[in-house]
Amino acid sequence: MSLTVYTNVDLTSRNTLGLRSFARFGGTFETARDLSALFELAQRDCLNIFPLGSGSNVLLDTWIDGIVLSSRDRGVEIDGARVTAGAGLEWDELVQITLARNLFGLENLSGIPGTVGAAPMQNIGAYGVELSDVIVGVEVFDLVNKQISFFDQDACRFGYRTSYFKTDQSGQYLITKVVLELSRRFSPVLEYPDLAHLPESDIASGYALRDAVLNIRNRKLPDYRVRGNAGSFFKNPFVTESLAQDLLSKGVRAYSVDNRFKVSAAALIEAAGLVGTQIGGGRISSKHALVLENTGQATLADILKLAAYIRSEVREQFGVQLEVEPQGLKGSPQNTTDP
Ligand SMILES: Cc1cc2nc3c(=O)[nH]c(=O)nc-3n(C[C@H](O)[C@H](O)[C@H](O)COP(=O)(O)OP(=O)(O)OC[C@H]3O[C@@H](n4cnc5c(N)ncnc54)[C@H](O)[C@@H]3O)c2cc1C
Repeated sequence: MSLTVYTNVDLTSRNTLGLRSFARFGGTFETARDLSALFELAQRDCLNIFPLGSGSNVLLDTWIDGIVLSSRDRGVEIDGARVTAGAGLEWDELVQITLARNLFGLENLSGIPGTVGAAPMQNIGAYGVELSDVIVGVEVFDLVNKQISFFDQDACRFGYRTSYFKTDQSGQYLITKVVLELSRRFSPVLEYPDLAHLPESDIASGYALRDAVLNIRNRKLPDYRVRGNAGSFFKNPFVTESLAQDLLSKGVRAYSVDNRFKVSAAALIEAAGLVGTQIGGGRISSKHALVLENTGQATLADILKLAAYIRSEVREQFGVQLEVEPQGLKGSPQNTTDP
């Protein structure tokens, strides 16, 4: 049997922010069919089930009274340019596997921490490419109706760092597989400003572009293995044209995307004079203003207080509402999505 269940599971090293957290039960599974024993346990003790990948986009509470469940399915099937990957595979491993098979489309998404199964949750994106550019759909296990089904790209309702799964408050779906359609031809996407002026050698192959992206990421982002963090803590907000003009006059760059105006949340935090602000053990990184880091002993309360302070300062100074990117575990009483 490929279901394993543990009790009193320490999740402190399983979230990149490094918040101290324990769960009553933790389980790993290989295929959705293995889950029936888990449902017996959940039903017997009236416990909720919370999916967890690599913990790089979550805000974990100290105690999670339920079953934290992770996929061990790291399988990859390739049929032509169609790739089906198990939820438990690390995302960046998938990028490397596809490049090794001369399949292209994921180069700009190199180096994003986390699992394949969590990638559709917030439609991961970086350097001008989003998962929704290449995804066909996802296989899910419906935790309520206890059946496997398939969500095609439309049903996933992808948007900027969001999807149906992120907005569905019931936490009904466990993503078990992700299906992508990649390209056999290397056709680099270089619209993003950081990539627009790369030398020819950096765009000569998929591997070269991947390396260039990894170098940029290493230069810009603080390392969560040195000081815990969850990557970008806020989404880049969309604003009206008049607010965009107003922000430009205050020196905050706003740019036009699909007839809308987007602002850099990092630029807002910098312009508000907040870089370096610390509350308890939570601090705004001096390397990247969008990153809230754990200086050592941060609690979830410290991080939430810091986030609330940033949001209120940015709202007061610029009239812009920032939205938090990482999630509390869905369905958890301590779901902390919106401090
Ligand atoms: C340093 C750093 C850099 C980052 N850079 C980027 C970036 O460039 N672009 C970007 O988009 N993101 C970025 N992120 C955020 C993060 O890497 C992604 O959101 C990633 O997809 C999270 O994967 P995970 O396995 O760690 O998910 P987790 O943090 O474990 O979970 C995230 C959410 O998904 C749910 N979930 C997890 N697995 C499943 C599943 N199988 N089925 C259903 N729900 C599930 C969880 O319940 C939770 O709500 C970054 C994070 C860090 C720490």
